[in-house]
Amino acid sequence: MKTIIEPFKVKTVEPIKFNTPLDRETILKQAGYNPFMIHAEDVIIDLLTDSGTSAMSAKQWSGMMDGDESYAGARSFFRFEKVIKELTGFKNIIPTHQGRAAEKILFSILGGEGKFIPNNTHFDTTRANIEFSGAIAVDLPCTGGRDPDIISDFKGNMDIDALEKFIIDKGVKNIPLIMITITNNSNGGQPVSMENIRASRAIANKYGIPLFIDACRFAENAFFIKKREPGYSDKSIKEIAQEIFSYADGCTMSAKKDALVNMGGFLALNNDELALKARNILVVTEGFPTYGGLAGRDLEAIAQGLEEVLDEHYLTYRIRSVEYLGEKLTQAGVPILQPPGGHAIYLNAQKFASHIPPHQYPGQSIVCYLYVIGGIRSSEIGSVMFGKTDKLSGKFIPASMELVRLAIPRRVYTQSHIDYVIEAVIETYNQRQSLKGYRITYEAPLLRHFTAQFEPIKE
Ligand SMILES: *Cc1c(COP(=O)(O)O)cnc(C)c1O
Repeated sequence: MKTIIEPFKVKTVEPIKFNTPLDRETILKQAGYNPFMIHAEDVIIDLLTDSGTSAMSAKQWSGMMDGDESYAGARSFFRFEKVIKELTGFKNIIPTHQGRAAEKILFSILGGEGKFIPNNTHFDTTRANIEFSGAIAVDLPCTGGRDPDIISDFKGNMDIDALEKFIIDKGVKNIPLIMITITNNSNGGQPVSMENIRASRAIANKYGIPLFIDACRFAENAFFIKKREPGYSDKSIKEIAQEIFSYADGCTMSAKKDALVNMGGFLALNNDELALKARNILVVTEGFPTYGGLAGRDLEAIAQGLEEVLDEHYLTYRIRSVEYLGEKLTQAGVPILQPPGGHAIYLNAQKFASHIPPHQYPGQSIVCYLYVIGGIRSSEIGSVMFGKTDKLSGKFIPASMELVRLAIPRRVYTQSHIDYVIEAVIETYNQRQSLKGYRITYEAPLLRHFTAQFEPIKE
C-alpha cells in the first residue's frame, strides 16, 4: 500500500464557514486587499502560518486539565524541564511565553553595540531582537541556498567558509555567539545537515564562541537528516535530535512550531552564569523561573507535544503532506521554490505572474486571487514584506525573491483539504494572465505587510 494516511483519528471538529467568491471579493476589498486584515472566520483554508496553529492531541488536552497551576515549583514545570533536558541535554531550562521572548532575553545579555551575530538565516523576530540590542544580525546561507530552482538535500546549511572568514574579519571578541536555525524558516524551510552542524561546532570550538540553535523545527529537520544523510537511516528521531543538540551550547525555541502547541517557548543553555542572568531578566519580563510567562497547563501540553513530535509516523505524514502539495503543483507546471521544505510550499511569484513587475507586487496579486477563488489565506513573502523605497533617490528596491507561502498547520487539515488547495492554485495559475498588479495606499513605518492597504491597478 502506498498512501500515507493521517496517523490520527479526529475527535473534535471545528466547522468551516463557507462563503462564495462574490462574498470574498467584498470581504477582500473591505480588508484593503490585505489577508492579515480578514477575519479568520471568513477563511476556508488558512495557510497564513504554521505557528501556533497546531491541533493538540487528546493527551495534550488531558494534560491541560492536569496542569499544576502553583506559582512556584509546579509539578508541570518539572515534567517540562525533564522532557527538554532529556531531549536537548542542556542544563538550564527556562520557559518563556514564546520564541521571541527567549531571543529577547538571550540578546539582552549577549547582544549590544559593536557585536555581530551570524546565522544560516535569521528569522525576522531573531533579527529584530538582535538589532534592538544594538548588535548586527548577519545571514550566511550556503551557496545555492537562495536559488529557488536548485534541488539539493540540505539547502538550509550555513556557509562554513563564509562563517570562518566572517569571524576573522569582525574579530572573535565581537561575536558573542553563532546561531543555526533548523529548519531554515526564512530560506524556504530547508533543512540543515548534521555534517553542517558539526562543522559549525568545529568553528565554534576553534574560536571559542558559543553555538546556539534556533530549534523551532528541530524534529522536521531531524526527519530530513534521517531520510537524506548517510549514516542516519537506522537512528531514531530522538537520537538524531539529541545528537544535533549535543553540538550546541544552548537553544531558543518557539513551542508554537514543533512542540505542537498554540503558545509557548523556552531558552535552554549549559552556562550557569548566563542562565542566572537570563533568569534575572525572566523574573522582570516573563515571570518566576518555573513558569516564565506560561500557565502550568501550557507547560504540560508542551512536554507532551515534544514527545509526540518525535513519532516517525507523525513526521512521515507531516513531511509527505507538504511534499505532496509541492509535487502536484510541480506536475501541473506551477513554479515553486524547490525542493519542498518542511512546513510550507513557496510559490515562485515572479515566474507565476511574470507580467507583473516587482513594484506591483506579483505575490500580493496571487494571494488575493487565491482568497477570492478558494477562500485560501496565504502570505506574500516578497516586495511587500521586504521591498523598500530608497529615501534619497525615491527608487524602489525589490526583495531578493517574490514568493507566496502556503504554510501547513500541523495535524489540522486532511488530504482532501490539501487536494482542494492544489485545485485552487492550479486554477489561479491557469488564469494567471488575468492577475492584476497592486499598489500600496497605506503603509506603517515598520513591518508594513501586517497592516498595509492596497488597491488593484486598473489598466
Ligand atoms: C516562529 C519563529 C521564531 C519566533 O517564535 P515566536 O514564538 O513566534 O515568538 C523564531 N525563529 C524561527 C525560526 C521561527 O520560525
